[in-house]
Amino acid sequence: MLNFHIVTIFPEVFDSYLNESIIKRAIKNKKISVKFYNPKDFAEKSNNPELTKPIDDTPFGGGPGMVLKAEPFLKAIRKAIGKKTKYKLFYFSPRGDLFNTKFAKKIARSNDKNQIKDLILVSGRYEGIDSRVEEIYKGERISIGNFVLTGGELPAMVLIDSISRQISGVLGNINSLEEERISAGKFYTKPSEFKWAKKLYKIPQILLSGNHKKIEEWKNNNK
Ligand code: SAH
Repeated sequence: MLNFHIVTIFPEVFDSYLNESIIKRAIKNKKISVKFYNPKDFAEKSNNPELTKPIDDTPFGGGPGMVLKAEPFLKAIRKAIGKKTKYKLFYFSPRGDLFNTKFAKKIARSNDKNQIKDLILVSGRYEGIDSRVEEIYKGERISIGNFVLTGGELPAMVLIDSISRQISGVLGNINSLEEERISAGKFYTKPSEFKWAKKLYKIPQILLSGNHKKIEEWKNNNK
């Protein structure tokens, strides 16, 4: 089992995704677990009654966006780490190392070997988290692509999804993991033909031929 520990000020955004399909089943079958640590729960009460739990503030040195405060995040991360020893800590950032399938597989295999049991994923928002947090709790910086999102929740979900499907027993058919299938470019299912706007749409007839060699050839040519 691989346990994901998500540090986020918006845990609710995960609800619907974790409650559908393969990920839901993986949780039910105890292949993975997902827990949340909300820095807002660790924020101090403010003297300003209008801001009962300030989680962010303006940046030193000026600049547009707000910066998430260090202490609530430190406390949430400390709670997530607890007494764990076989964990890895990741911070999300558009400037991090690019996440990919190889990375996902590596983590899943380390989990098989019981080398990694827990992943702590820290999701930022706004301009980001006060940099002292990363100085205190050292981790790896991960980017999920060359674009800037409004928060680290989608990246956390991307890691949960892509790592989970590499864990033994999560996908119904283990062959679905074959690299060729990931890159297979075209796929069809029943019915083998239908009409749309008066035009007939058929699947490539080779797929109905029963000639496995020819079908493999077709697949290789249609990646
Ligand atoms: N000012 C920051 C960007 C902040 S984006 C900078 O220039 O680096 C707000 C948050 O969204 C980040 O803290 C991070 O958690 C998340 N985020 C945005 N884009 C991301 C990406 N491509 N990969 C991973 N996390 C991302």
